[in-house]
Amino acid sequence: MEYEVAYKEAVDSLSREGILEPKLDARLLLEFVCGTDRNTLLVHPDRELSKEEEEEFLSLLAQRAQHIPLQYLTGVQEFMGLEFQVNPHVLIPRQDTEILVEEVLLYLRDGMRLLDLCTGSGCILISLLYYRNSCQGVGVDLSPEALQVARANGERILSQRKDGDRSLIFLESDLFSKVEGEFDVLVSNPPYIQNQVVDTLMPEVKDHEPRMALAGGEDGLDFYRKIVEESPKYLKKGGMLFFEIGSQQGEAVAALMKQQGYLEVQIKKDYAGLDRVVYGTRPFC
Ligand code: GLN
Repeated sequence: MEYEVAYKEAVDSLSREGILEPKLDARLLLEFVCGTDRNTLLVHPDRELSKEEEEEFLSLLAQRAQHIPLQYLTGVQEFMGLEFQVNPHVLIPRQDTEILVEEVLLYLRDGMRLLDLCTGSGCILISLLYYRNSCQGVGVDLSPEALQVARANGERILSQRKDGDRSLIFLESDLFSKVEGEFDVLVSNPPYIQNQVVDTLMPEVKDHEPRMALAGGEDGLDFYRKIVEESPKYLKKGGMLFFEIGSQQGEAVAALMKQQGYLEVQIKKDYAGLDRVVYGTRPFC
């Protein structure tokens, strides 16, 4: 089978199954299987796939047609310019979450201790440590399988930085339950979708991403309530708490933080103009 034929068949089959971006996914799968790039595919449309490539391509294509997310098939997702490994035990890192990381980076200084709750693939914590020289990071998650992914990502990505003095550990913990010590910064992108809304999401999300990484209780705010309530025990005075939020949750999460005594509580929008991040400062007294 030639590149061009494989590509066209893939676009047809993905379109028939209602995949959102059939052309993009067909090309990315073909690039992945053939270890090639977009230019080569364009310039050599008549190059033959080997027997093994063809088999692998058709197998992955059939899986994508069943709405398994592309990233679980290729095993990777780029985030903050870094390549994270993913599997169905972790939420696929979202571009929206880069807003949270960029906001934290404005405040994060070398030497700070940082805690990431519901770390999943570790994308938030690992990016923060990567872009600073000497912070200490602790990441927690309830899922041991997710922590395996996060640990592997941490080792691979941070080993690319030869300078600085970073430390990173991951703990299996139900939010703060196994956490010890005080931190300068707490960050979390917790599950925040209302339970009854999860089943209305696209099949890629509702059928294939971990439900425990999505569902945030009846009103989607369960994790924010628990984290905000317990956070003063783990956050130094003057330390900061940062959350990613659903676009409708800004006011509610800001109110929770203010009730708990947080100061300078801010809501930050994403590039689509939707509320995306809430943060505030623990008072000195
Ligand atoms: N912190 C991870 C991320 O942002 C996982 C989030 C989650 O599981 N809700 O991708």
